[in-house]
Amino acid sequence: VRVAPADIGGGDFGRRVFLLTYRDISQARRIDRMRSDFVANASHELRTPLASLRGFIETLQGPARNDLKAQEKFFGIMHEQVTRMSRLVDDLLSLSRLELRSHIAPDEPVDLVPLLGHVRDGLAPLARDLDVTISLEAPETPVVVKGDRDELIEVFENLIENACKYGQEGQKVDVRLTGGGDGQAEVVVTDYGPGIPAEHVPRITERFYRVNVEASRSKKGTGLGLAIVKHILTRHRARLLIHSEIGKGTVFTVRF
Ligand code: ADP
Repeated sequence: VRVAPADIGGGDFGRRVFLLTYRDISQARRIDRMRSDFVANASHELRTPLASLRGFIETLQGPARNDLKAQEKFFGIMHEQVTRMSRLVDDLLSLSRLELRSHIAPDEPVDLVPLLGHVRDGLAPLARDLDVTISLEAPETPVVVKGDRDELIEVFENLIENACKYGQEGQKVDVRLTGGGDGQAEVVVTDYGPGIPAEHVPRITERFYRVNVEASRSKKGTGLGLAIVKHILTRHRARLLIHSEIGKGTVFTVRF
């Protein structure tokens, strides 16, 4: 709140007049805090693999200089760390590109039937490694929505990959598409894993929010996947609904 003496003209009336201006800065502060938390988180996530790389380089230059076996092992770990950093940088760039375009709704016609088939086929090697079966149920006729094909692929890759990673090994993941030719459609991704505790559900689409950081890291997660999904769906004027039951599984619904 700012209070300032104001000149209302018309001479001196024997009293002072003040102008009161009020501006709500709580929203701006919140955005500032989110931005600096984000930078701190991103730096931390990049620093961890960088520190580990530095350690390995020093060991390779020193104690392991002539140890071929150790060298082979360390190069393998270093490769993993570099891959992790690349994934993180790709996700950060994806997020920032989406933020720049958040106000423009994409509007090319996209048929979700072949798109989901394509995503399932792309995830087949991961599903095989995790011993998960991805079952896809879709209408025989096209289900067309307005959108951006590559972004929608990213959404369903993220959701189905999460269902495979965090679901139950040896179980299945169900992907069901419904909708007609009226631009309305629903994609439901169900896993039968351990579920997400209720208090975490509202926060898992936040950037870098993970229920279990170590589990996410070991499953090659960056903590940005669902934040990217949320951004893309907002741009598509689509909704993301999350329903989870401990011990039973999790259902992610995308509604266009
Ligand atoms: P990550 O890269 O860690 O997978 P995401 O943004 O994709 O990041 O997901 C955030 C967190 O939400 C994950 O770390 C995980 O804890 C939780 N999560 C996401 N999908 C599922 C799921 N299907 N079942 C259980 N937990 C999940």
